Amino acid sequence: MAFEGLADRLQNTLQKIRGKGKVTEADVKEMMREVRLALLEADVNFKVVKDFINRVKERAVGQDVMKSLTPGQQVIKVVNEELTALMGGEQSKIAVAKKPPTVVMMVGLQGAGKTTTTGKLANHLRKNHNRKPFLVAADIYRPAAIKQLETLGKQLSLPVFSLGDKVNPVEIVKQGIAKAKEEHCDYVIIDTAGRLHIDEGLMDELKDMKDAANPDEVLLVVDAMTGQDAVNVADSFNKQLDITGVVLTKLDGDTRGGAALSVKAVTNTPIKFAGMGEKLDQLEAFHPERMASRILGMGDVLTLIEKAQANVDEEKAKELQQKMKTMSFTLDDFLDQLRQIRSMGPLEDLLGMIPGANKMKGLKDAKVDEKQLVKIEAVIQSMTMKEREQPAIINASRRKRIANGSGTTVQDVNRLLKQFEDMKKMMKQMMGTGKKKKGGMKFP
Ligand code: GDP
Repeated sequence: MAFEGLADRLQNTLQKIRGKGKVTEADVKEMMREVRLALLEADVNFKVVKDFINRVKERAVGQDVMKSLTPGQQVIKVVNEELTALMGGEQSKIAVAKKPPTVVMMVGLQGAGKTTTTGKLANHLRKNHNRKPFLVAADIYRPAAIKQLETLGKQLSLPVFSLGDKVNPVEIVKQGIAKAKEEHCDYVIIDTAGRLHIDEGLMDELKDMKDAANPDEVLLVVDAMTGQDAVNVADSFNKQLDITGVVLTKLDGDTRGGAALSVKAVTNTPIKFAGMGEKLDQLEAFHPERMASRILGMGDVLTLIEKAQANVDEEKAKELQQKMKTMSFTLDDFLDQLRQIRSMGPLEDLLGMIPGANKMKGLKDAKVDEKQLVKIEAVIQSMTMKEREQPAIINASRRKRIANGSGTTVQDVNRLLKQFEDMKKMMKQMMGTGKKKKGGMKFP
């Protein structure tokens, strides 16, 4: 997960001060020395680090903190607030033009993820904001860029405008926007050309395109894995093109986090979105306060809830609750549950959003074994419907058949059946349908 190193170090440092009933100036100084090193090691711009440390120090040794009943926690609160402010404070939303369509121009270096993000953004706008996006393929230089966008458009069933790679991009932009208006689309997203490095020719062309498009939003796509380079690229693009926002891609990788923490401070341009994977639904609106909480191990329950809401079928959830009440929960339902959870993304990422999960004994180093989940899925799939509904009929010969069919062993099958039985027992207790136990939980 991104920020892992930084998160670990900051959390260890803050842990030392958390419970303190009395915090001295020397304590704060010592702590800030460690925080400073952690940030530098995460590749945060050194000037940004210096300003950050000064701000936290000033506030932390202030009267309110030192004299409070829980000074240790107050210091952590200050760090959290300043970290949030560093990444932009409030969430910065994508522009909406007074008169549609809203024109968004995507810019960035080659390989940053511009074309992919163009598709992801269109998907996000349609899925979460009920918009009607229109894509314009104006990257005429990178071989196959136009084809790539057209393929994304097909996958998403969204219109993609292109005039091939022989027409001037300024002309493509003009005609593209006119066509989007004709089709009553309310967002035009323009994929532009990138180069491997910033060069004048490219910038001039982008400026011309910007003049022609008169965009409401110029979004710079930068690769978070490139750390300080990402920040330098953002700075140059901003000086030349006056960008309105940044999309940080590849935050799912093991980036040290420096780019996310410095980009806003250096360019004074907000991060609007974060790319969390290669798939089209792996773009998240960037919430500074949630990101700060994740880094400090306080979890990101809001994102977790949103993910659950987007992925969990409400009808099914109700049905399931009913089944749990009447104890008619089968292995098939179990499989369904497993699939829903997996559709929310890698389990390790989900765990990272639970407050304190990374500090829990056993969980911290527990690499969630996705293979195990695949195995469970395979085992259940090899069962007949009847077996899924009445696991009691699964005798020795059936176990052998299931193991063979799923490419697992009889022990794997046994383990799963045992787990399922244990789970049912636990449910019985929670639902209070078993023998009444004092203090047992009762659901309405
Ligand atoms: P462009 O040259 O800027 O248009 O870059 P592309 O859109 O072709 O992306 C370059 C590579 O980065 C592709 O392999 C993408 O799948 C990958 N990529 C883009 N965004 C993300 C992301 O958020 N996470 C990960 N892991 N890969 C990404």
